[in-house]
Amino acid sequence: MAKKGLIALFIIILGLTTVVSSTVYADSATINADHLNVRSGPGTGYASLGKVNTGESYSIIDEKNEWLKIHWHDQTGWVAKEFANVKSKESSLAAKVDHLRIHSRPELNSSIKGYLMKGDMVNVKDRKGKWVLIEQSNTKGWVHSDYLTNSVSAESEESSAGQTQKSMGELTITTSILNVRNESSTNGSIVGQVYNSENYDYISEQQGWYEIELHNGKTGWVAGWFTSKDHTDPSQDSSSSYVTLQYNGTHLRSGPSTNHQIAGTGRQGDQYQVLSKEGEWYKVSFKGKPAFVAGWIVEEHNGTLSSAPSSNGTLNGKTIMIDPGHGGRDTGALGFTGTTEKTITLQTGEHLKQQLESYGAKVILTRNSDQYVALSIRSATAQASKADAFISLHFNSVPSSIAANGIGSYYYHDKDQSLANDIQSEMVQSTGLKSRGVHFGDFHVIRENNKPAVLLELGFISDRNEEQTVKGVHYQTKVSQGITNGLLRYFAPS
Ligand SMILES: [Zn+2]
Repeated sequence: MAKKGLIALFIIILGLTTVVSSTVYADSATINADHLNVRSGPGTGYASLGKVNTGESYSIIDEKNEWLKIHWHDQTGWVAKEFANVKSKESSLAAKVDHLRIHSRPELNSSIKGYLMKGDMVNVKDRKGKWVLIEQSNTKGWVHSDYLTNSVSAESEESSAGQTQKSMGELTITTSILNVRNESSTNGSIVGQVYNSENYDYISEQQGWYEIELHNGKTGWVAGWFTSKDHTDPSQDSSSSYVTLQYNGTHLRSGPSTNHQIAGTGRQGDQYQVLSKEGEWYKVSFKGKPAFVAGWIVEEHNGTLSSAPSSNGTLNGKTIMIDPGHGGRDTGALGFTGTTEKTITLQTGEHLKQQLESYGAKVILTRNSDQYVALSIRSATAQASKADAFISLHFNSVPSSIAANGIGSYYYHDKDQSLANDIQSEMVQSTGLKSRGVHFGDFHVIRENNKPAVLLELGFISDRNEEQTVKGVHYQTKVSQGITNGLLRYFAPS
C-alpha cells in the first residue's frame, strides 16, 4: 500500500516536472522600464517583491488582467504588461529556405536526419549558440538559426525591437516604380513599392532577386535587374564608352531584363556604343536603334573602338545533343541552400543551346522543361539521332562533412576521352573553377551511347560558395562558352 502511494506520488512529481520544463521556452517578456516592480499578485495593490529593469527578459508563465506572471530569479512574480514587450511564439519558428538540413548534432559536420521546406513550422526544444533543437513530424534535430525565422506575428515585433537581419549590402533602385513582392519571382504578390534612386539594404539574394528591408521594417523581394549595387555614377552616361560582347549568341533586348523581347543577337567581339546604363544593363546603339545588353556578359571600355577579335571555327553542319540531367520527380542533387540540380542543368542547357546555335550547330535537347525522362530514353534518343556529340550536364553534391568543389568531365568509351579532354580544359579556362580532371565514368547515358558522349559535372552545389556561383547566369554563360570552345576544338580540322 505504502509502496503504491509512493509510486503514485512519484508519477505526480514526474508529471509536474514535465509541465514546468515545457514552459521554459514559452513566450518571454522583455522589460522596457527601469525599476519596474515585481509584485506578488496581478495588481498594484500587491506587495513588491523586487524590481526589474529595461532589457531584461523573463519567461511568461501566466497572464491576468494586463499583468504578466514571470519566472524571475527562481521565483515567480507579476509585472504590468504595459512595461514589457511580449515576444510571442518564440517556441515556434519557420524555415526560411527549402531543403534546410536537420542535423543530428549542433554542428555542420554532423549527419543529416532530414530536411525542412520553406515555411515549415517547427517547435523549439532547446538552443545552443546559433543552433536550435527542433522537432517536426517525429524528426528531432538541430537546425542553424540563420535559416529560421519567427512567425509573421513575432517578426514585426522583432524588427521594431531593432533585432533586424544582417544586411548584405546596399542597392539603389534604377527604375521609376518597382514592385516589392513576397517572394523572389513575378508570381509573388505585391507587398509594397519603391522608387527611383532610393537606397535599401538587402539581406538575401535568390536567382537575381534581392530581399530588401523597407523603411517600415518589413522585407520583400525586388527584381535585381532594376537595381544597382553601385551608387549612380554620372560618368556611366558618357557617350564615349563602348561595350564589347564576350560571348557568341549574346541577346540584345528591347528592355533591361531577360523578360524583354530579343531585338537581335550579337557575336563575341561585337562592339556597341553605350547610350546609358540602367541597373546592370547597358542601353546601347544596335543597328541604329537602342537595345539593351546585360552588363555581366560584356566588357565596358572608354575611348575608340578596338578592332574586334575574329571568331574562329564553326559548328556548321554539326548536331549536338544536350542532356540536362534529372528533371520532374528526379530532382538530382540538393544544394547547400536548396538549389535543385534539375533546375540548373536545364538553365545551363538553354544557355549552351544558344551558344552552340550561334556557331551554326543544330541542337537537340533531351528535355526542355521540368519533366522526368528515364536514362534509357535519353540514351536511346541519342542512339537513334544523327547527333555528332552528346553532352550530359550535371552538378555535384557531397555530404556536408566533405569539402569538395570544382568541375570534372567523364567518358565511358576510350574513343570519347579526347572530347572530354577538350571540353574540360576549355571549361576550366572560361570559368576559372578548380579542375577535378577527366575520368572514366560508368554512367548509363554515356555507356549506352554510340555517339561521342561525355558527362560533365559542372560544380558542387553542396558547397556554399560554389552553389551561389553555378546557379547564376554569369557562370552558366561562361561554362557554356567553355563547352562550346571544347566542341570547336574537338571538331576543328587537324
Ligand atoms: Zn546529376
